[in-house]
Amino acid sequence: MSEYIVINNPSYEYDVLAILKSFYPEKNLKPMTPLNKLWVPGYEDGSVESFARLIVDEDERSARLFIGGKEISINGSIKKAFYQAVSEYAGRTLPWGNLTGIRPTKIAYNLIESGESSEYIRNYYRTEHFVSDEKIALSIDIAKREKAIIDELKGYSIYIGIPFCPSTCLYCSFTSYPIISYKKYVEDYLDCVIKELKWTAESFKGKALDSVYIGGGTPTTLEPAQLLRIINALKDNFDFSSIREFTVEAGRADSITEEKLKTLYDNGVTRISVNPQSFNQSTLDLIGRKATAEDTIRAYELARKTGFDNINMDVILGLPGETESDVQHTADVLCKLSPDSLTVHSLAIKRASSMSKWIEEKGISSIKNTDDTMQIMYKACREMDLKPYYLYRQKDSSGSFENVGYAREGKFGIYNILIMEEVQSIVAIGAGATSKRVSANEKGETIIERCENVKDVKLYMEQLDEMIERKEKLFDTL
Ligand code: SF4
Repeated sequence: MSEYIVINNPSYEYDVLAILKSFYPEKNLKPMTPLNKLWVPGYEDGSVESFARLIVDEDERSARLFIGGKEISINGSIKKAFYQAVSEYAGRTLPWGNLTGIRPTKIAYNLIESGESSEYIRNYYRTEHFVSDEKIALSIDIAKREKAIIDELKGYSIYIGIPFCPSTCLYCSFTSYPIISYKKYVEDYLDCVIKELKWTAESFKGKALDSVYIGGGTPTTLEPAQLLRIINALKDNFDFSSIREFTVEAGRADSITEEKLKTLYDNGVTRISVNPQSFNQSTLDLIGRKATAEDTIRAYELARKTGFDNINMDVILGLPGETESDVQHTADVLCKLSPDSLTVHSLAIKRASSMSKWIEEKGISSIKNTDDTMQIMYKACREMDLKPYYLYRQKDSSGSFENVGYAREGKFGIYNILIMEEVQSIVAIGAGATSKRVSANEKGETIIERCENVKDVKLYMEQLDEMIERKEKLFDTL
């Protein structure tokens, strides 16, 4: 059952909702603001039943919070004081304090860049954002590691999206189409990708290409010859001498074959991902991943045999029905396989996914990750000698947890770091891909601008020239 949060000033909607959802993950909280269809003027007076009401005064220097029959006065910075008021009411604190953005390590990164000491950064996180000591240490640790890598980069990166998958996972909210019904469009789709690549090569001539990431979807749903078409187009049009990382997300074991792995390895792909999500078969069945746990182990071993020395695995914590012993089982299998990097996700239920419907149908009010399951995975990472190197939080992730990428020294995923810290431009190619231009204004402040390709594969192919024009405008290459 939904419960409302009435907020009279819509500019506080995101932060207020994010903070309350983190304190009360079991509740289905919905905002009601003057911009919301449900809003009727006068709701400020409590005439609608709500979980909480935040009435911000006009000068935005003070507010009143109504929660659990109490009225609490808020003064000063609304976001800061709101967090403190709810924390006091709930009788606990949040590990990330009042930080609601998806990139909490960016603060540490930027402060290190500005020459601030670790002591200053710790203090800043503590007093401005109420972040726990553990998360502060993690953020500084990651930011230092990221900076060492970013300092060596000189140019830009390319992302290529292959939006096809063998089947659709229950929790999926990415651009993904079942390959079986899209097979007939694949060659034309690749023609479009190659046209975008040629435009990029021409427009970024003379600039160093640092990394290439082919993601999706599942790129390995393509046949070996199709994978080779993309790789050849890259090699023919770009100078690969500066490339630090070339990743292909192999992703699902049901799309991986020996021939495809060989094609990738023999043609210079340096890093791949073979993602189990969980090694519990009943969970995999439930979330609609057709590959079995055994298939993933086989695909991983095949990749090692082919020669790959940088293999990432992704796992998700908080999957429906998973207990601590299930997570421990996944951790044990991972320790045996010993991937070079591991990305630990906390399940985020996006409104667009079938999982959100599934939850409603089954009457499950919430699926929660716990600190204990997170600790199981952290411990496994320590055992495998993997260090945290990037971190992000997702909106609506279960609990208030973060997603962390761990890797062995020298195997940190460069593209992942770039996505988090937003320090260089990324040209994104293919349906649903978002390009990002990172530049600086006269004051030296970072400016980030984006443009998105349409998600629908057929529309993307029809409107390709328009997509390229958008990129021309974004990157000023007209
Ligand atoms: S493999 Fe990834 S992109 Fe494909 S359906 Fe599953 S979650 Fe979505």
